[in-house]
Amino acid sequence: MFEKILIANRGEIALRIHRACREMGIRTVAVHSTADADAMHVRLADESVCIGPPPAKDSYLNIPAILTAASITGADAIHPGIGFMSENAAFAEMVEQHGFAFIGPTPEHIRLMGDKVTAKKTVQALGMPTVPGSDGALQSLDDAIKTAARIGYPVLIKAAAGGGGKGMKVADDAAGIEEAYTLARGEARAAFGNDEVYIEKYLQRPRHIEVQLLGDTHGNAVYFGERDCSIQRRHQKVIEEAPSPGLNGSEREEIGLLAADVIRRIGYRGVGTIEFLYENGKFYFIEMNTRLQIEHTISEMITGIDLVREQIRVAAGLPISYQQSEIAFNGHAIECRINAENPETFLPSPGTIVGYHPPGGLDVRVDSALYDGYRVPSNYDSMIAKLIVHGATRNECLLRLRRALEEFVIGGINTTLPLHRRLVAQPDFINGDYDIHWLEGFLERK
Ligand code: ADP
Repeated sequence: MFEKILIANRGEIALRIHRACREMGIRTVAVHSTADADAMHVRLADESVCIGPPPAKDSYLNIPAILTAASITGADAIHPGIGFMSENAAFAEMVEQHGFAFIGPTPEHIRLMGDKVTAKKTVQALGMPTVPGSDGALQSLDDAIKTAARIGYPVLIKAAAGGGGKGMKVADDAAGIEEAYTLARGEARAAFGNDEVYIEKYLQRPRHIEVQLLGDTHGNAVYFGERDCSIQRRHQKVIEEAPSPGLNGSEREEIGLLAADVIRRIGYRGVGTIEFLYENGKFYFIEMNTRLQIEHTISEMITGIDLVREQIRVAAGLPISYQQSEIAFNGHAIECRINAENPETFLPSPGTIVGYHPPGGLDVRVDSALYDGYRVPSNYDSMIAKLIVHGATRNECLLRLRRALEEFVIGGINTTLPLHRRLVAQPDFINGDYDIHWLEGFLERK
């Protein structure tokens, strides 16, 4: 097992990884920008190294600085966390070339799944259902027009290198296709330096269902149930729950087994998530994320298994600690992502935290790097806390979540806590009756 892990990330996820390491007896190295010198992940780690100025491109994305920090501290592995370098195959390759273990999949698997066009083709060949669309990347506007006419409007143009909902544009009819194609390519070029796009049928009322997976280097793969992440704004998840209120037991098992089988057959190592849209009883693959996800916490709550611990173990070459039959699902869990944003306009709200009181009690978990007097910098993602609540039933979970949201105090800045309080009181949410467009509709109606 590793003795020292460098955590190439910040905020709550760096803390989350630090906690798993601590419990496994592994020492940790934090890296940080000058904006994060006082951050909690730096305070809790055994050692820390400043890797650059505030802009992420000069610090958390600065590969030579990260590798140098690992080298001078004598770390034997690097955990990339979420975002930043976590899906960068070139980084994973360099980490390994410099003699460190990369806590994640092989660079080949990151590459294979990172390109959504090749990912879709790969899983399709393994028998996984996908959204009807172009056969690979679009060659031209003419190709887009022909494909859209074949699959029927509305359609969605998506970036092959996509992520974070960027480079995605809907065309409702033939009149809108040129604009959607041009805008999606422009956005993809700006965000990913790659303007390759493909086309999919735009589903009208799907749920976003994703399966949590883990594979090892001994030919094993298991699933940890599904998460429903349909409550989204601008294709970004806001609330997630496990299990999905929209699936029955046999659908759950069917999709879990299918997803685990796919990663077993490609020889995948590490944690990963296969994402689907689910509509009218059918699943359609949309993408695979070759990393830990923000919402891994709710799968941990219903299985009682530390996924980061398992991720580190398989990166060290150990087999998965559990057979599929030993992974039991208990009760219900919901996560609210709390952002430093105005809850009405969603404008970022950096600043100093004055008065911080996280909720507590049975089955309430707060993953956050906040503390009283902490200054939320303006340089990074606005998510500042995750509230995760578990209950024996969905109803118990909802009652507990409502209570925990009432208790949560984050003063000094604007946060999306008031939005969450309103959302969990909506009858549609309480009834589990929502799809991926529900939140946008709710925000327009109010
Ligand atoms: P990203 O990698 O940018 O997150 P995804 O392919 O995972 O992109 O899609 C993100 C979200 O966009 C999905 O959760 C869903 O809400 C929406 N979406 C993606 N594909 C479709 C589609 N074919 N029809 C309708 N909505 C879609």
